[in-house]
Amino acid sequence: MTDNLASFPGGLVLDGQKKRSTQTPIRQTPLAKKLILPLQQHIGEASEPIVKVGDKVLKGQKIARAEGHVSVYLHAPSSGTITAIDEQPIPHPSGLSALCITLETDGEDRWIERQQVDDFTRLSQHEIRQIIREAGIVGLGGAGFPSYIKLNPGVHHHVETLILNGVECEPYITCDDMLMRERSEGILDGIEIMIYALRTKNCIIAIEDNKPEAIAAIELELPKRPKLKNTKVVAIPTRYPAGSEKQLIEVLTGKQVPSGGLTVDLGIVCHNIGTSYAIGRAIKHGEPLISRIVTVTGTDVKHAGNFETLFGTPMDELLAFCETKRHPGEPFILGGPMMGYNLSGDHLPVTKTANCILVGVDNAAPITKPLPCIRCGDCASVCPVGLLPQQLYWHARAKDLEKTQQYNLFDCIECGCCSYVCPSKIPLVHYFRFAKTETMNQQQETLKADNARIRHENRLERQTLEKTEKEQRQRQRKAALAATKAAKEKEKMLEQQHTDNQEN
Ligand code: SF4
Ligand code: SF4
Repeated sequence: MTDNLASFPGGLVLDGQKKRSTQTPIRQTPLAKKLILPLQQHIGEASEPIVKVGDKVLKGQKIARAEGHVSVYLHAPSSGTITAIDEQPIPHPSGLSALCITLETDGEDRWIERQQVDDFTRLSQHEIRQIIREAGIVGLGGAGFPSYIKLNPGVHHHVETLILNGVECEPYITCDDMLMRERSEGILDGIEIMIYALRTKNCIIAIEDNKPEAIAAIELELPKRPKLKNTKVVAIPTRYPAGSEKQLIEVLTGKQVPSGGLTVDLGIVCHNIGTSYAIGRAIKHGEPLISRIVTVTGTDVKHAGNFETLFGTPMDELLAFCETKRHPGEPFILGGPMMGYNLSGDHLPVTKTANCILVGVDNAAPITKPLPCIRCGDCASVCPVGLLPQQLYWHARAKDLEKTQQYNLFDCIECGCCSYVCPSKIPLVHYFRFAKTETMNQQQETLKADNARIRHENRLERQTLEKTEKEQRQRQRKAALAATKAAKEKEKMLEQQHTDNQEN
């Protein structure tokens, strides 16, 4: 079904390059001997280990608990023994290391006992959210935000519409497309649960019109679900970055999420198709999130496709399974060519947000040194947020962070459209990411300094108060002493008078 759709400014029509990875069904990645599980695979606080080295664990067993409100649990993706809890390289553009749990698998892949829920409507909304949190579910579209929080709009918001994002607009990535083609039932299970958790009725499943098989698969299953009578599939025009949350809402509703605002302010909550599938598995089958579909594709991949991969699987093992031309140590892209980033480590683990590994890009332009900005304005004409990338670039380059904020740096969704069209090949998004990181670091520093200043002022105030109280106590003591002395002297004098009177 195609509704009366609106549009967003800018954007690009890109060559999707999706065919290469959609020729075969989803396959299972072989079980790795060693799974490396970063404790931070989501936005928020890192999870806290609840196992120790030497512990034997079963598939699906909790190995780290949520720490704080914005956090989720982490599970063993297979059975085996915990062999290390230490710093390991993680898939991050800066080549960071972070605390990871290493699991040596035993090859038996033995599950814990799974608690299935046959009728989720017997559970309260709170209980549903709790299961989703304990199942470790985060947004699988790339952001990794804990899903249970997005299913709790709070008492001040009413959710009018749930949007299921099956747009997958970035070239090369096809994991959501294949999931919709092959597992539409599981996706709809999750949608039923989310509709119930959000106490909403309306749901839109948005899919780009270049995915006719996915649209057909969902539309075939939908009429069988009476609970989903107010759910519809909307095919939206293929244009990058239509899958970005705010742009998708604008296309579907014509409404713009205000700068710094939340989608729920418009009565809308957006979830990814893969997240919906994970929620269905967690509630109906008692399975925590321990794997995801990863697209492995690119000109240098012999067996491109989509692979159900356990978290922690070393990416180089997955690449070896797909037979690539890549040599150890050579870089590859995690994510798509627009928003992804280069990685070059060899034992980096697949994590909850790893949707695509790209090795070799078609018609890749040779890497050249950026040329000076010619102020052509092409970058502004394609920005889907309506920003001025050229100005942002100048201020980011000059490290004038205040100015970048005045130009709404934090509204930038890092879609890469501006860099893509820039005739001078300036890596604009790199500058914007750098400026964001610097600003956040500065804000952290300011926060720390403010806290230290407040602590110092509080200490001074306390010391002054203590001094005043001490002086007051001393004054009171002196006054009391003087009063006692005066009383004694008076008593003495009276006694003397009394003695004198008797003698006279
Ligand atoms: S597209 Fe590139 S060259 Fe043109 S104004 Fe933007 S930054 Fe400058
Ligand atoms: S990366 Fe940011 S500035 Fe560039 S086009 Fe996308 S949203 Fe606009």
